[in-house]
Amino acid sequence: MKNKKETKWHYQVTWKVEEEIQDRAQEKIKQLIEEWCKEQGAQFIDIFFEPDAFKLDIQLENNINVYKATKSLNKGLGKVISGVELYLVVTQAERLEGHSITQEIRVEKVIESLWSAEYYDLDERAADDLEAFKDYLNSRQLATIDVDDQLYIVDIEAIGALINLNCFECTKLYQYGCCCGSPCDMSRKNQRYLDKHLSNLAEEMRRLNEKDYDEVMEKGGFISFDGSIKECNGRCSLLVFHEGVYKCMAHKYALDHEIPIYELCPLSCLMYPLEIIELITDKKKKVLFFTSVVEEDFAKIYGRWGSYGSLQIDHRCVKPDEHNEIFKKEDYKPVYKVNQNLLIHEFGEGIYKGMEQLFNKTT
Ligand code: SF4
Ligand code: SF4
Repeated sequence: MKNKKETKWHYQVTWKVEEEIQDRAQEKIKQLIEEWCKEQGAQFIDIFFEPDAFKLDIQLENNINVYKATKSLNKGLGKVISGVELYLVVTQAERLEGHSITQEIRVEKVIESLWSAEYYDLDERAADDLEAFKDYLNSRQLATIDVDDQLYIVDIEAIGALINLNCFECTKLYQYGCCCGSPCDMSRKNQRYLDKHLSNLAEEMRRLNEKDYDEVMEKGGFISFDGSIKECNGRCSLLVFHEGVYKCMAHKYALDHEIPIYELCPLSCLMYPLEIIELITDKKKKVLFFTSVVEEDFAKIYGRWGSYGSLQIDHRCVKPDEHNEIFKKEDYKPVYKVNQNLLIHEFGEGIYKGMEQLFNKTT
Protein backbone atom coordinates (compact mmCIF):
# COMPACT_ATOMS: atom_id res chain seq x y z
CA MET A 1 0.00 0.00 0.00
CA LYS A 2 1.31 3.42 -0.91
CA ASN A 3 1.35 6.16 1.62
CA LYS A 4 2.27 9.60 0.33
CA LYS A 5 2.20 11.34 3.69
CA GLU A 6 4.83 9.07 5.16
CA THR A 7 7.31 9.63 2.37
CA LYS A 8 9.44 12.70 1.89
CA TRP A 9 11.04 13.32 -1.45
CA HIS A 10 14.50 14.77 -1.81
CA TYR A 11 15.46 16.36 -5.07
CA GLN A 12 18.91 17.60 -5.97
CA VAL A 13 18.99 19.58 -9.17
CA THR A 14 22.20 20.76 -10.86
CA TRP A 15 22.44 23.32 -13.64
CA LYS A 16 25.57 23.95 -15.64
CA VAL A 17 26.40 27.46 -16.84
CA GLU A 18 28.81 28.83 -19.42
CA GLU A 19 30.01 31.91 -17.55
CA GLU A 20 31.14 32.48 -13.96
CA ILE A 21 28.21 33.28 -11.68
CA GLN A 22 28.71 36.71 -10.09
CA ASP A 23 27.21 37.71 -6.70
CA ARG A 24 24.34 39.73 -8.23
CA ALA A 25 23.37 36.80 -10.47
CA GLN A 26 23.50 34.47 -7.46
CA GLU A 27 20.97 36.63 -5.62
CA LYS A 28 18.62 36.68 -8.62
CA ILE A 29 18.92 32.93 -9.17
CA LYS A 30 18.16 32.30 -5.51
CA GLN A 31 15.13 34.57 -5.67
CA LEU A 32 13.74 32.83 -8.77
CA ILE A 33 14.25 29.42 -7.22
CA GLU A 34 12.57 30.39 -3.96
CA GLU A 35 9.53 31.65 -5.90
CA TRP A 36 9.46 28.42 -7.88
CA CYS A 37 9.67 26.37 -4.66
CA LYS A 38 6.61 28.24 -3.32
CA GLU A 39 4.68 27.44 -6.50
CA GLN A 40 5.60 23.77 -6.23
CA GLY A 41 4.96 23.57 -2.48
CA ALA A 42 8.59 22.55 -2.04
CA GLN A 43 10.72 23.15 1.01
CA PHE A 44 13.89 24.97 0.00
CA ILE A 45 16.87 23.42 1.77
CA ASP A 46 19.93 24.98 0.21
CA ILE A 47 21.60 26.17 -2.94
CA PHE A 48 25.31 25.77 -3.70
CA PHE A 49 27.18 27.84 -6.23
CA GLU A 50 30.26 26.66 -8.07
CA PRO A 51 32.08 28.68 -10.75
CA ASP A 52 30.31 26.83 -13.59
CA ALA A 53 27.28 25.27 -11.90
CA PHE A 54 24.71 25.62 -9.17
CA LYS A 55 22.99 22.89 -7.21
CA LEU A 56 19.63 23.06 -5.50
CA ASP A 57 18.46 20.87 -2.61
CA ILE A 58 14.72 20.71 -2.00
CA GLN A 59 12.25 18.49 -0.21
CA LEU A 60 8.62 17.78 -1.05
CA GLU A 61 5.84 15.71 0.39
CA ASN A 62 4.60 15.07 -3.12
CA ASN A 63 6.02 12.75 -5.68
CA ILE A 64 6.48 14.85 -8.82
CA ASN A 65 8.45 14.61 -12.03
CA VAL A 66 10.92 17.20 -10.88
CA TYR A 67 12.90 16.92 -14.08
CA LYS A 68 9.91 18.19 -16.04
CA ALA A 69 8.92 20.71 -13.35
CA THR A 70 12.33 22.38 -13.31
CA LYS A 71 12.18 22.94 -17.07
CA SER A 72 9.69 25.78 -16.44
CA LEU A 73 12.36 27.43 -14.31
CA ASN A 74 14.97 27.35 -17.04
CA LYS A 75 13.53 30.24 -19.04
CA GLY A 76 13.72 32.62 -16.07
CA LEU A 77 17.21 31.44 -15.18
CA GLY A 78 18.28 31.97 -18.79
CA LYS A 79 17.44 35.67 -18.45
CA VAL A 80 19.79 36.00 -15.47
CA ILE A 81 22.76 34.11 -16.80
CA SER A 82 23.62 32.85 -20.27
CA GLY A 83 24.26 29.24 -21.24
CA VAL A 84 22.33 27.77 -18.33
CA GLU A 85 21.40 24.12 -18.83
CA LEU A 86 19.65 21.59 -16.63
CA TYR A 87 22.27 18.88 -16.17
CA LEU A 88 21.63 16.48 -13.33
CA VAL A 89 18.63 15.59 -11.19
CA VAL A 90 18.81 13.12 -8.31
CA THR A 91 15.50 12.00 -6.82
CA GLN A 92 15.16 9.93 -3.73
CA ALA A 93 12.36 9.02 -1.31
CA GLU A 94 13.01 9.00 2.39
CA ARG A 95 10.65 6.65 4.16
CA LEU A 96 9.72 6.43 7.76
CA GLU A 97 10.75 3.12 9.30
CA GLY A 98 8.29 0.32 8.67
CA HIS A 99 6.27 2.02 5.94
CA SER A 100 5.76 0.66 2.47
CA ILE A 101 7.93 1.76 -0.43
CA THR A 102 6.64 4.41 -2.81
CA GLN A 103 8.44 4.56 -6.13
CA GLU A 104 8.99 7.76 -8.03
CA ILE A 105 6.22 8.45 -10.58
CA ARG A 106 8.34 7.61 -13.61
CA VAL A 107 9.75 4.48 -11.96
CA GLU A 108 6.21 3.33 -11.25
CA LYS A 109 5.37 3.78 -14.93
CA VAL A 110 8.48 1.97 -16.14
CA ILE A 111 7.75 -1.00 -13.84
CA GLU A 112 4.07 -1.12 -14.81
CA SER A 113 4.83 -1.08 -18.52
CA LEU A 114 7.87 -3.36 -18.39
CA TRP A 115 8.02 -5.46 -21.51
CA SER A 116 11.51 -6.94 -21.26
CA ALA A 117 14.54 -6.84 -18.94
CA GLU A 118 17.89 -7.48 -20.62
CA TYR A 119 21.50 -7.43 -19.49
CA TYR A 120 23.43 -4.36 -20.51
CA ASP A 121 25.96 -5.19 -23.26
CA LEU A 122 24.57 -8.71 -23.75
CA ASP A 123 21.90 -10.16 -25.97
CA GLU A 124 20.28 -12.02 -23.09
CA ARG A 125 17.19 -11.67 -20.94
CA ALA A 126 17.71 -10.97 -17.24
CA ALA A 127 14.23 -12.08 -16.20
CA ASP A 128 11.91 -14.63 -17.77
CA ASP A 129 9.14 -14.15 -15.24
CA LEU A 130 8.46 -10.43 -15.68
CA GLU A 131 5.70 -10.28 -13.07
CA ALA A 132 8.05 -11.66 -10.41
CA PHE A 133 10.74 -9.19 -11.51
CA LYS A 134 8.27 -6.30 -11.25
CA ASP A 135 7.45 -7.40 -7.69
CA TYR A 136 11.14 -7.54 -6.96
CA LEU A 137 11.67 -4.01 -8.28
CA ASN A 138 8.75 -2.73 -6.25
CA SER A 139 10.24 -4.24 -3.10
CA ARG A 140 13.47 -2.24 -3.48
CA GLN A 141 14.20 1.32 -2.52
CA LEU A 142 14.98 2.92 -5.85
CA ALA A 143 16.33 6.37 -6.64
CA THR A 144 16.46 8.08 -10.01
CA ILE A 145 19.24 10.01 -11.66
CA ASP A 146 18.56 12.16 -14.72
CA VAL A 147 21.62 13.15 -16.71
CA ASP A 148 20.77 15.49 -19.53
CA ASP A 149 17.73 13.69 -20.98
CA GLN A 150 18.54 10.17 -19.88
CA LEU A 151 16.80 8.54 -16.90
CA TYR A 152 18.64 5.96 -14.77
CA ILE A 153 17.21 3.92 -11.90
CA VAL A 154 19.45 3.00 -8.96
CA ASP A 155 18.93 0.36 -6.28
CA ILE A 156 20.27 2.33 -3.33
CA GLU A 157 21.18 -0.58 -1.07
CA ALA A 158 22.78 -2.71 -3.80
CA ILE A 159 24.86 0.11 -5.29
CA GLY A 160 25.94 1.46 -1.91
CA ALA A 161 26.96 -2.03 -0.64
CA LEU A 162 30.58 -2.28 0.50
CA ILE A 163 32.92 -4.54 -1.45
CA ASN A 164 36.64 -5.29 -1.53
CA LEU A 165 37.74 -6.94 -4.77
CA ASN A 166 41.08 -8.29 -3.63
CA CYS A 167 41.11 -10.79 -6.50
CA PHE A 168 44.89 -11.07 -6.65
CA GLU A 169 45.14 -12.37 -3.08
CA CYS A 170 41.92 -14.34 -3.43
CA THR A 171 43.25 -16.39 -6.35
CA LYS A 172 46.27 -17.35 -4.26
CA LEU A 173 43.82 -19.10 -1.94
CA TYR A 174 41.24 -20.33 -4.43
CA GLN A 175 43.26 -20.87 -7.60
CA TYR A 176 40.77 -19.84 -10.26
CA GLY A 177 38.81 -17.49 -8.01
CA CYS A 178 35.65 -16.47 -9.86
CA CYS A 179 37.22 -17.38 -13.20
CA CYS A 180 36.19 -21.01 -13.00
CA GLY A 181 33.92 -22.29 -15.76
CA SER A 182 33.43 -20.06 -18.76
CA PRO A 183 32.74 -16.33 -18.47
CA CYS A 184 29.56 -14.54 -19.55
CA ASP A 185 29.02 -14.06 -23.26
CA MET A 186 30.34 -10.91 -24.88
CA SER A 187 28.71 -8.30 -27.07
CA ARG A 188 29.76 -8.19 -30.75
CA LYS A 189 31.82 -5.06 -30.03
CA ASN A 190 33.60 -6.84 -27.20
CA GLN A 191 34.23 -9.89 -29.42
CA ARG A 192 35.81 -7.65 -32.07
CA TYR A 193 38.05 -5.99 -29.48
CA LEU A 194 39.29 -9.31 -28.14
CA ASP A 195 39.66 -10.79 -31.60
CA LYS A 196 41.98 -7.96 -32.64
CA HIS A 197 44.54 -8.96 -30.00
CA LEU A 198 43.83 -12.69 -29.71
CA SER A 199 46.79 -14.09 -31.66
CA ASN A 200 49.31 -11.88 -29.80
CA LEU A 201 47.65 -12.68 -26.53
CA ALA A 202 47.90 -16.41 -27.30
CA GLU A 203 51.60 -16.07 -28.09
CA GLU A 204 52.12 -14.24 -24.83
CA MET A 205 50.37 -17.03 -22.98
CA ARG A 206 52.59 -19.62 -24.62
CA ARG A 207 55.63 -17.63 -23.46
CA LEU A 208 54.34 -17.34 -19.90
CA ASN A 209 53.10 -20.90 -19.44
CA GLU A 210 53.42 -23.39 -22.28
CA LYS A 211 51.49 -26.09 -20.44
CA ASP A 212 48.40 -23.87 -19.98
CA TYR A 213 48.65 -22.77 -23.59
CA ASP A 214 48.88 -26.38 -24.86
CA GLU A 215 45.85 -27.39 -22.80
CA VAL A 216 43.79 -24.60 -24.34
CA MET A 217 44.92 -25.49 -27.85
CA GLU A 218 44.15 -29.19 -27.32
CA LYS A 219 40.60 -28.20 -26.44
CA GLY A 220 40.24 -26.19 -29.64
CA GLY A 221 41.45 -22.70 -28.66
CA PHE A 222 40.07 -19.79 -26.69
CA ILE A 223 36.91 -18.93 -28.58
CA SER A 224 33.92 -21.13 -29.37
CA PHE A 225 31.92 -21.10 -32.63
CA ASP A 226 29.45 -18.49 -31.24
CA GLY A 227 32.23 -16.07 -30.28
CA SER A 228 32.16 -16.72 -26.52
CA ILE A 229 35.24 -17.53 -24.44
CA LYS A 230 35.62 -21.26 -23.82
CA GLU A 231 36.15 -23.19 -20.64
CA CYS A 232 39.31 -25.26 -20.30
CA ASN A 233 39.65 -27.91 -17.58
CA GLY A 234 37.19 -26.20 -15.25
CA ARG A 235 38.49 -22.67 -15.71
CA CYS A 236 38.22 -19.84 -18.19
CA SER A 237 40.62 -20.55 -21.06
CA LEU A 238 42.10 -17.05 -20.66
CA LEU A 239 43.32 -17.84 -17.17
CA VAL A 240 47.07 -18.41 -16.97
CA PHE A 241 49.26 -19.60 -14.10
CA HIS A 242 52.17 -17.22 -13.83
CA GLU A 243 54.58 -16.36 -10.98
CA GLY A 244 52.67 -18.58 -8.55
CA VAL A 245 49.21 -17.18 -9.16
CA TYR A 246 46.38 -17.44 -11.73
CA LYS A 247 45.93 -14.28 -13.78
CA CYS A 248 43.51 -13.13 -16.46
CA MET A 249 45.53 -13.10 -19.67
CA ALA A 250 43.31 -10.43 -21.26
CA HIS A 251 43.75 -8.11 -18.30
CA LYS A 252 47.48 -8.75 -18.06
CA TYR A 253 48.00 -8.21 -21.78
CA ALA A 254 46.04 -4.95 -21.71
CA LEU A 255 48.07 -3.62 -18.78
CA ASP A 256 51.44 -4.75 -20.19
CA HIS A 257 50.72 -3.17 -23.57
CA GLU A 258 48.95 -0.06 -22.30
CA ILE A 259 45.72 -0.98 -24.04
CA PRO A 260 42.62 0.45 -22.30
CA ILE A 261 41.04 -2.54 -20.51
CA TYR A 262 37.63 -1.62 -21.97
CA GLU A 263 39.06 -2.24 -25.42
CA LEU A 264 40.09 -5.78 -24.66
CA CYS A 265 38.59 -7.44 -21.56
CA PRO A 266 35.03 -8.81 -21.43
CA LEU A 267 32.87 -6.04 -20.00
CA SER A 268 30.91 -8.46 -17.80
CA CYS A 269 34.18 -9.52 -16.11
CA LEU A 270 35.09 -5.89 -15.46
CA MET A 271 31.66 -5.13 -14.03
CA TYR A 272 31.40 -7.73 -11.26
CA PRO A 273 29.52 -7.36 -8.89
CA LEU A 274 27.89 -4.29 -10.48
CA GLU A 275 24.87 -5.41 -12.49
CA ILE A 276 23.25 -3.26 -15.16
CA ILE A 277 19.90 -4.24 -16.60
CA GLU A 278 18.05 -2.54 -19.44
CA LEU A 279 14.40 -2.07 -18.58
CA ILE A 280 12.47 -1.91 -21.83
CA THR A 281 8.88 -0.69 -21.72
CA ASP A 282 6.02 -1.66 -24.03
CA LYS A 283 6.63 1.65 -25.82
CA LYS A 284 10.24 0.57 -26.46
CA LYS A 285 11.62 3.16 -24.05
CA LYS A 286 14.90 1.93 -22.55
CA VAL A 287 15.92 2.82 -18.98
CA LEU A 288 19.06 1.52 -17.31
CA PHE A 289 18.75 -0.08 -13.90
CA PHE A 290 21.89 -0.14 -11.72
CA THR A 291 22.13 -2.77 -9.03
CA SER A 292 24.64 -5.39 -7.83
CA VAL A 293 24.83 -9.10 -7.07
CA VAL A 294 26.04 -8.76 -3.48
CA GLU A 295 22.83 -10.44 -2.32
CA GLU A 296 22.93 -14.11 -3.21
CA ASP A 297 19.14 -14.31 -3.66
CA PHE A 298 19.29 -11.65 -6.38
CA ALA A 299 22.46 -13.18 -7.88
CA LYS A 300 20.84 -16.61 -8.21
CA ILE A 301 17.72 -15.42 -10.02
CA TYR A 302 18.67 -12.25 -11.86
CA GLY A 303 22.48 -11.87 -11.90
CA ARG A 304 24.31 -12.50 -15.19
CA TRP A 305 26.96 -14.53 -13.34
CA GLY A 306 24.42 -16.78 -11.58
CA SER A 307 24.94 -18.03 -8.06
CA TYR A 308 28.33 -17.20 -6.60
CA GLY A 309 27.39 -19.12 -3.44
CA SER A 310 27.81 -22.35 -5.41
CA LEU A 311 31.44 -21.63 -6.34
CA GLN A 312 33.10 -23.06 -3.19
CA ILE A 313 34.87 -19.73 -2.73
CA ASP A 314 34.75 -17.75 0.45
CA HIS A 315 33.25 -14.57 -0.99
CA ARG A 316 34.56 -12.19 1.63
CA CYS A 317 34.87 -9.56 -1.07
CA VAL A 318 31.12 -8.92 -0.85
CA LYS A 319 30.79 -9.53 2.91
CA PRO A 320 32.32 -6.62 4.83
CA ASP A 321 31.42 -8.15 8.20
CA GLU A 322 33.73 -11.06 7.41
CA HIS A 323 36.81 -8.93 6.83
CA ASN A 324 40.14 -10.45 7.84
CA GLU A 325 43.87 -9.79 7.42
CA ILE A 326 43.60 -10.28 3.62
CA PHE A 327 40.23 -8.59 3.03
CA LYS A 328 41.01 -5.60 5.21
CA LYS A 329 38.11 -3.68 6.72
CA GLU A 330 39.40 -0.31 5.53
CA ASP A 331 39.55 -1.48 1.91
CA TYR A 332 35.79 -2.05 1.54
CA LYS A 333 34.21 0.61 -0.66
CA PRO A 334 30.72 1.10 -2.13
CA VAL A 335 30.07 -0.68 -5.44
CA TYR A 336 29.68 2.60 -7.35
CA LYS A 337 33.10 3.84 -6.17
CA VAL A 338 34.85 0.57 -7.05
CA ASN A 339 33.23 0.78 -10.50
CA GLN A 340 33.80 4.51 -10.94
CA ASN A 341 35.95 4.15 -14.08
CA LEU A 342 33.59 1.71 -15.73
CA LEU A 343 30.55 3.89 -15.04
CA ILE A 344 32.26 6.95 -16.45
CA HIS A 345 33.63 5.03 -19.42
CA GLU A 346 30.23 3.61 -20.36
CA PHE A 347 27.86 6.44 -19.39
CA GLY A 348 29.90 9.60 -18.80
CA GLU A 349 30.76 11.70 -15.72
CA GLY A 350 27.14 12.63 -14.96
CA ILE A 351 26.01 9.23 -13.74
CA TYR A 352 28.94 8.97 -11.33
CA LYS A 353 28.37 12.51 -10.05
CA GLY A 354 24.70 11.62 -9.56
CA MET A 355 25.63 8.56 -7.53
CA GLU A 356 28.04 10.58 -5.41
CA GLN A 357 25.25 13.06 -4.67
CA LEU A 358 22.83 10.28 -3.88
CA PHE A 359 25.15 8.61 -1.38
CA ASN A 360 26.46 11.77 0.17
CA LYS A 361 22.82 12.45 0.93
CA THR A 362 21.92 8.99 2.20
CA THR A 363 25.04 8.31 4.29
S1 SF4 B 1 35.63 -14.08 -4.91
FE1 SF4 B 1 35.75 -11.82 -5.01
S2 SF4 B 1 37.89 -11.36 -4.59
FE2 SF4 B 1 37.78 -13.54 -5.13
S3 SF4 B 1 38.19 -13.61 -7.33
FE3 SF4 B 1 35.97 -13.49 -7.06
S4 SF4 B 1 35.50 -11.29 -7.17
FE4 SF4 B 1 37.70 -11.49 -6.81
S1 SF4 C 1 38.18 -13.30 -19.25
FE1 SF4 C 1 39.59 -12.98 -17.60
S2 SF4 C 1 38.38 -12.12 -15.89
FE2 SF4 C 1 36.95 -13.02 -17.39
S3 SF4 C 1 36.60 -15.09 -16.62
FE3 SF4 C 1 38.28 -15.19 -18.12
S4 SF4 C 1 40.16 -15.03 -16.92
FE4 SF4 C 1 38.45 -14.35 -15.64
